[in-house]
Amino acid sequence: MTNPLLADWDTPFRIAPFDRISDADFAPAFDEALAAHLAEIEAIADNPAPASFANTIEAMEGAGEGLDKVLSVFFSVAGADSNDARQALQREFSPKLAAHSSAIYANAALFARITDLWERRDALGLSEEEARVLYLTHRGFVRAGAALTGAEADRMKEVKSRLAVLGTQFTQNLLKDEAAWFMPLAEADLEGLPGFVVDAARSAGEALEQPGSVVTLSRSLIVPFLQFSPRRDLREKAFRAWAARGENGGETDNRGIAAETLALREERARLLGYEDFAQFKLETEMAGTPGRVRELLMQVWEPARAQALRDAAEMEEMLREDGINDALQPWDWRYYAEKRRKALHDLDEAELKPYLQLERMIEAAFTCSSRLFGLEFKPLDVPLYHPDCRAWEVSRNGEHLAVFIGDYFARASKRSGAWCSAMRSQAKRPKLETPIVVNVCNFSKPSKGKPALLSYDDARTLFHEFGHALHQMLSDVEFGSVSGTSVARDFVELPSQLYEHWLEVPSVLEEFATHAETGAPMPKALRDKVLAAATFDMGFQTVEYVASALVDLEFHSGPAPADPMRKQAEVLERIGMPQAITMRHATPHFAHVFSGDGYSSGYYSYMWSEVMDADAFAAFEEAGSAFDPKTAEKLEEFILSKGGSREAEELYTSFRGRMPGVEALLKGRGLAA
Ligand SMILES: [Zn+2]
Repeated sequence: MTNPLLADWDTPFRIAPFDRISDADFAPAFDEALAAHLAEIEAIADNPAPASFANTIEAMEGAGEGLDKVLSVFFSVAGADSNDARQALQREFSPKLAAHSSAIYANAALFARITDLWERRDALGLSEEEARVLYLTHRGFVRAGAALTGAEADRMKEVKSRLAVLGTQFTQNLLKDEAAWFMPLAEADLEGLPGFVVDAARSAGEALEQPGSVVTLSRSLIVPFLQFSPRRDLREKAFRAWAARGENGGETDNRGIAAETLALREERARLLGYEDFAQFKLETEMAGTPGRVRELLMQVWEPARAQALRDAAEMEEMLREDGINDALQPWDWRYYAEKRRKALHDLDEAELKPYLQLERMIEAAFTCSSRLFGLEFKPLDVPLYHPDCRAWEVSRNGEHLAVFIGDYFARASKRSGAWCSAMRSQAKRPKLETPIVVNVCNFSKPSKGKPALLSYDDARTLFHEFGHALHQMLSDVEFGSVSGTSVARDFVELPSQLYEHWLEVPSVLEEFATHAETGAPMPKALRDKVLAAATFDMGFQTVEYVASALVDLEFHSGPAPADPMRKQAEVLERIGMPQAITMRHATPHFAHVFSGDGYSSGYYSYMWSEVMDADAFAAFEEAGSAFDPKTAEKLEEFILSKGGSREAEELYTSFRGRMPGVEALLKGRGLAA
């Protein structure tokens, strides 16, 4: 009998037949699919016919169909509905997958065919998208080291495997330091803390088998403690411990690991012919060069710093009123900011919540996409991986476009956070594929018979993930490798962050933010408060983020620093870091940059995308309506439908007529002069 994961799926729109798949099917299907993919790749590499786009690049695009099916199902359930068996499978699969992709990149015959095509590219009569896919394939192999030979190839292998070890060690040290520290709180120390912080401190104490409440270094506990505790001495103690993660001396100290990592990254870049790691890393990004990243960050830095200094002066006054004759310190910031927030925008979460019903917010996200792009949604009854999941068929003018799955509620088997993934990506060649897209969130599930209510942040998350889903569902390219969200890292958050803006459109809130019991629309005064609170304390948030992004960039520009802590201090000194603010992530616990390669010299990406989303939404405002049909059409034509089939800069410029400036971002963050 055929494994249900590898069988032909005769379900509606070929959605995986979740009701027929059991955990025992994964391992055998995975091994069979890996072997089949490798055999396909070898057949392409060993084809006696001369290389052509069709028999090499397009054949590679079409290879591994079984593997795609197995992994799409497996990673859906491993992330959103895990159990012991699935965790064990994940540990087994990830080294096998890494070895599989290394084997493909190391296939010399395959690389020779790709290189041959690359060298003859102008004579091949390729379409623009074919040329792009050839370029990306060739570049991917070169960047993986496929062109290196002899001692250099050997050294590259050593460098990469040492970097992987260092990344894991960095993460584990950080976890150890975070787990090792806690601060017991006596009953009197709880005074002034709101109920939810007291509860969190109690349950943290229980988890650590302590007699009473404790503060730990978990972000979800220490941040509210710093926000609400009136005890300056305790705030200082907790803050210092938090800031010292990875920097406590002994076996878990990450400073040496950071230095070695930076040196090896530089060596890796040099082996591949780049001057430094930032140039290697940014080559595939929209920003392109370290200089452009630096320029953006510094344009934002100055106004953010000025705002933060103004806020600091006001808070120092509040410190005086509390009878404290000291400069404002990092452990004071959140506490006094919270007091200011209360005074300036007294926004009561409890008053807001009944207006943000999950059902109405889903409807709002769908309706905005109907008004912008003409999408229609029809509930679809199919077996999925968990009873909380719901599916819709998405169509336009009667034509099927995609399947959208929403998996909104938190549960113990789901990892934290929110994400969008494609169970199947759009493609036309070598085979027609329509997308199946999942949005996974962690909203609290209501008790039976009650409507699910969201916080404003939750509602924004829902719109954000739906923006990623639109990028997948509206994709209209030839090849799967460049469809949907297969774009540069500093471009991928544009559609999602952009879509958040529609939640803030007053007419959308007016129509869809209705009271769960009375059905009345949200009062205008409350709506205004919600929108005004969005820019509060942005000086601080921007400063702590941009400082981290600049340090990350300077670490990877030029020769690697022998002493990263000294380099960090130099950068902060040079930009005039305000005394009462620290980096969002200081080097010894900067996991984005040192736990792996993902965000190294890439921490700026969030802001790069934000510059574009603010500027892109301004295009609608300039046209006079958030639903201006012409602007929506351009957004779909030049950005949402194109995936990575063209350079990001070309796409953005086609949409907007120019590259974005930082003005709209500064305005959105309340930092404009
Ligand atoms: Zn996102």
